[in-house]
Amino acid sequence: MLYFQKGYIIKDCRNCKREVVKKITRCPYCGIMNPTLTLKDIFVSIFGIIVIMAVVTYFSN
Ligand SMILES: [Zn+2]
Repeated sequence: MLYFQKGYIIKDCRNCKREVVKKITRCPYCGIMNPTLTLKDIFVSIFGIIVIMAVVTYFSN
């Protein structure tokens, strides 16, 4: 579930499935770190770093 509420993005915790603010670093219910971080988010971050490195390498030659 993803929707906007008072300017905050609310997502479900990946562990306990309760709603938490996306920016939160620790779930207040079950205590896991980065409760809204999914494998897709990690993949996108890694892909972004690879693209940036490829661009930097391309322009530095
Ligand atoms: Zn949780």
